[in-house]
Amino acid sequence: MRTMKVHRKKIRAYALVIMALSTILCGQLAYVMLWRSEELSAKAQALHERERVIKAARGRLISADGTVLADNKTVCTVSVIHSQLTDPEKVISILTDELDMSEDRVRYYVEKVSSMERVKSNVSKEVGDRIRDYNLDGVKVDEDSKRTYPFGQLASKVLGFTGADNQGIIGLEVSYDELLAGKNGMILTLTDAKGIELEGEEEQRIEPVAGEDLYLSLDYNIQSYCMQAARKTYEAKQAKSVSIIVMNPQNGELLAMVNYPEYDLNDPFTLNYELPGSVSDNEKMNLLNAMWRNGVINDTYEPGSTFKVITATAGLSTGAVSLSDSYSCGGSTTVGGRTIRCHKTTGHGSQTFAQTLMNSCNPAFITWGLRVGVDNFLLYMEKLGLMQKTGVDLPGEASTIMHKKEDIKELELATMSFGQSFQITPLQLLRAVSCVVNGGTLVTPHFGVKSVDTDGNITELEYGRVEGVITQQTCETMKTLLKSVVHEGGGSKCHIEGYSIGGKTATSQKLPRSEQKYISSFIGFCPAEDPQVIAMCIIDEPQGIYYGGTIAAPVIREVFENILPYLGIEKMPENAAQ
Ligand SMILES: [Zn+2]
Repeated sequence: MRTMKVHRKKIRAYALVIMALSTILCGQLAYVMLWRSEELSAKAQALHERERVIKAARGRLISADGTVLADNKTVCTVSVIHSQLTDPEKVISILTDELDMSEDRVRYYVEKVSSMERVKSNVSKEVGDRIRDYNLDGVKVDEDSKRTYPFGQLASKVLGFTGADNQGIIGLEVSYDELLAGKNGMILTLTDAKGIELEGEEEQRIEPVAGEDLYLSLDYNIQSYCMQAARKTYEAKQAKSVSIIVMNPQNGELLAMVNYPEYDLNDPFTLNYELPGSVSDNEKMNLLNAMWRNGVINDTYEPGSTFKVITATAGLSTGAVSLSDSYSCGGSTTVGGRTIRCHKTTGHGSQTFAQTLMNSCNPAFITWGLRVGVDNFLLYMEKLGLMQKTGVDLPGEASTIMHKKEDIKELELATMSFGQSFQITPLQLLRAVSCVVNGGTLVTPHFGVKSVDTDGNITELEYGRVEGVITQQTCETMKTLLKSVVHEGGGSKCHIEGYSIGGKTATSQKLPRSEQKYISSFIGFCPAEDPQVIAMCIIDEPQGIYYGGTIAAPVIREVFENILPYLGIEKMPENAAQ
């Protein structure tokens, strides 16, 4: 009965405070409505409610094989409420030990006169539980959820990471933030004006709503293998970076995307290399941004000879060239008053159309490109998705850098024909080549496949596709031509006994050309007749030998040797493979 009375008294006091406040508010209504409404209502609220946010569990990122790539762990926040402390010295002593903090620091928080003081956050659940078990008056332990990445560096430039409030900062974490985030909950505690909790008042909890799990096409095993292959090449070639993308060319599902060196998702604000000296905060931020960049999406490059796939497709589609055409290469050709050399300076001699692709002969492709003409050349670049972003579900996709149409003269068209003088992203090119070999469907590259909420409701994610971009006949011809590049031509280092593989190599010189820096690349697909997987390797600034056919094609061969059996793509009987 006595406590009831005290309780009623407190309620009455509390009601009086609110009434008094209301009176003041009424008296100043006009002023308040015009100027200070939000500020004052926030103050009024603070008088009687203490709020503590309960973070919603963020949805997990789960790979195609069921591996959890981004998870949450429970952490605790330990706070003290000054007005409720009955034995401050005991609290100081226990928190100093348990939280591994200096006594001075803990004493500062405990003795500070405020409604609530946060002593430490990100405390492990184990320690949080122990502190709770002491039952110390005035000590609050709240549970919270923190993002964790079980595989550290794996797919760092795809997954991305979250900030202090669990919000996505970069990568899939930001593209799917809304779906993953869920809704935070809250604990409301009624207090009087002094911040003393009202006895007998239950804590009011608004439970958080967990985010949805996102299931990815990215496969843990394929990603791991590609990362190994990229690291090996990065070290062997002393390269600036090595990227590998693996995609299903039929539907755009990305199975792997590596940009080596990667960084630790659990420690994203630490550079993945030693700085030679100290840098300003601003410079450090720039270096971190550079480290987080996903080069195959965020950066453009001159594709070089892999782009001949597009020139050949445009030529065959428009009828400007046919398989019966031939070209005799003398080692160079002159366009618009400029001499452009073939990479084989002694010349390829007489070649069929197929051989010009197998040899990757520049003068021949200049001829084919000029025959296509500016209008049709740009039309096919457009049709094959090279003039627009791919729409991949990652942020910050770079745009094509292309001449204005009226500025494309003979020389510009000539250089475009073998993949120079404009820039696209590696992913744009991989999508265009997929379209050429999958029967003419322009797909949207993506990682997100479906989301599942806590009740098990599934939402399948859908992506645009454009069918009939090129004819089935052109597609069949191109697959045959690209198969001969691997089986007889410049892509022979991607040949695997028993498998039918198509592909194209490239060695592009970076700008400015005087610096003699290169990008070596290779795109390959298998089986050549009905491609189920397409992969690309880009080696940025390799040292020593830099030819794509010599250094990038073998990387994709290694990747294929490992992943084709895993994907259930079987070797053909001996006599069927050529
Ligand atoms: Zn040539």
